[in-house]
Amino acid sequence: MSRRDELATALARLTARIGRAASSAGRDPRSIRLVAVTKTFPAQDAALLTDLGVTHLGENRDQEGGQKADQLRLLRPDATVCWHMVGRLQRNKARTVLRWAAMVQSVDSPRLAGALDTAVRAALDAGGRARPLDVLLQASLDDDPTRGGCPLADLPALADQVAASDGLRLRGLMAVAPLGADPDRAFEALYRAAVAVQARHPEATELSAGMTSDLEAAIRHGSTCVRVGTALLGGRPLASP
Ligand SMILES: *Cc1c(COP(=O)(O)O)cnc(C)c1O
Repeated sequence: MSRRDELATALARLTARIGRAASSAGRDPRSIRLVAVTKTFPAQDAALLTDLGVTHLGENRDQEGGQKADQLRLLRPDATVCWHMVGRLQRNKARTVLRWAAMVQSVDSPRLAGALDTAVRAALDAGGRARPLDVLLQASLDDDPTRGGCPLADLPALADQVAASDGLRLRGLMAVAPLGADPDRAFEALYRAAVAVQARHPEATELSAGMTSDLEAAIRHGSTCVRVGTALLGGRPLASP
């Protein structure tokens, strides 16, 4: 089977899976966006996914994301794709991530939000971009500082800061379910946090939750964006600790 056929089969299965999860939750499957997470896979795979109609792609490292976005532009100059940064971001990468990411889903601290805002405003002033950057706040559902994410208690203040930043547009929340915990409980807590943020910031309508192993639970709890790698592209070599 060609790689294109492999990806087409996986995409059809995944789309059906998202459709089943949506209908069991009484939701419209069109209210759930798929971000294909292409990390560790070549730009050629990203190109084949765009041929199959995937328009949202995600990466978790700035350097890999920037390189793949450049390569994809050469491979498919006419494809319209929206790249999402979904991984931990260091403040000193705020400027480079703007080059390729249309949305940063992993804003988890006042300092990172401040660095992104400064970088975007500089680019706006210099005429290097026309619009603010769409961001999601990454919520921590296990309060483990090594895994990234803003503690739930600190989200309201971070949301207020981002909403008041000229360079940033607050679009909603993102989270990764804690390892080894019940995803339903985690995503329920996330949903409650999202409702609270949206009450103060009505434009924050996105809830990015659910990956290969837990997208059904995320869709039950209001996810508007699933980020899927393995179920589409296959297994990745285990990351070093
Ligand atoms: C890798 C990654 C995903 C995709 O995970 P799979 O289990 O391969 O579907 C989703 N979100 C983030 C933040 C990731 O780093």
